[in-house]
Amino acid sequence: MSDATLPPPPEPGERVPVDAAEAVLEAAATAVDGLAQPEAFTPLDHSRRLLLVHAHPDDESIGTGATMARYAAQNALVTLVTCTLGEEGEVLVPELAHLAADCDDALGQHRIGELAAACEALGVRDHRFLGGPGRWRDSGMMDTPANERPECFWRADLDEAVRELVGVVREARPQVVITYDENGGYGHPDHIQAHRVAVAAFDAAGDAAYAPELGIPWQPSKLYHSAIPKSVLQSGIDQLKAAGESNFFGVESADDLPFGVADDVVTTEIDARDWLEHKTAAMRAHRTQIEVDGPFFALSNNIGQRAFGVEHYVLVRGEKGNADGPQGREDDLFAGLD
Ligand SMILES: [Zn+2]
Repeated sequence: MSDATLPPPPEPGERVPVDAAEAVLEAAATAVDGLAQPEAFTPLDHSRRLLLVHAHPDDESIGTGATMARYAAQNALVTLVTCTLGEEGEVLVPELAHLAADCDDALGQHRIGELAAACEALGVRDHRFLGGPGRWRDSGMMDTPANERPECFWRADLDEAVRELVGVVREARPQVVITYDENGGYGHPDHIQAHRVAVAAFDAAGDAAYAPELGIPWQPSKLYHSAIPKSVLQSGIDQLKAAGESNFFGVESADDLPFGVADDVVTTEIDARDWLEHKTAAMRAHRTQIEVDGPFFALSNNIGQRAFGVEHYVLVRGEKGNADGPQGREDDLFAGLD
């Protein structure tokens, strides 16, 4: 990345005004060298270390952006691993429509820049693509021809993908790892695959017999799935309706959506409302993918902070810490570890 065109990253705790963030995003989206190495960092300078495994550029911001911004601002090392470049995404910006897979097939390279800009907005400095940028291609939605391409992530050699991730885990040494549930949240093949790779790497990274050439074994302590409680979805649907907005994904009930988990399954609630502007700025950075007038931003305008700035997780490996949050939930991903 060419730092000459970018303002300095925010200090921990500093809030980036949305206008300033927009300027950063525009600059970064055009100035990024996708092959740049991650900035040098020393994991053990950070007492708290969080690793997120996501499928496509934009998933990190939509699902976990407020959490990432909060922990980055609190000086945790936040490491983002993105498994594909999102080459098969739909392009929502008319003047960039030519980038699409069925035209120039240049969307992946463009999205490297969008993701770099989003990370800038989130204050996240350690970002990698699994296996390097473009190692695995976006597989497209389930049962589409893109699933058949040999280079797509859905067809990845799992052993190779897991090895790549174990290398990152042993370098970054996270105590906490976040990925999707076994259905990838909503059934996208790359999300399902990201889950499989993350779980296998979580289990293998601490095993001294596994690939010793990848570094000193490191066993993360907690593994979480990101989740949206049904009640949060339902309140979004209800409040948008009451506000006279167009409906949310065309449904009346959260039960009709292909995502959302029962409230009593949720173990952890991260209140990151103070970092909501960072999340929305990061989402805006993904301008080919997220409509500024679409349901996400309608939500952020209408029901705002609670639906958008509080993110939920389900602990699937490790011990639950103190239930200091609402409904017996943890309010900190690192609860019980410090
Ligand atoms: Zn995705």
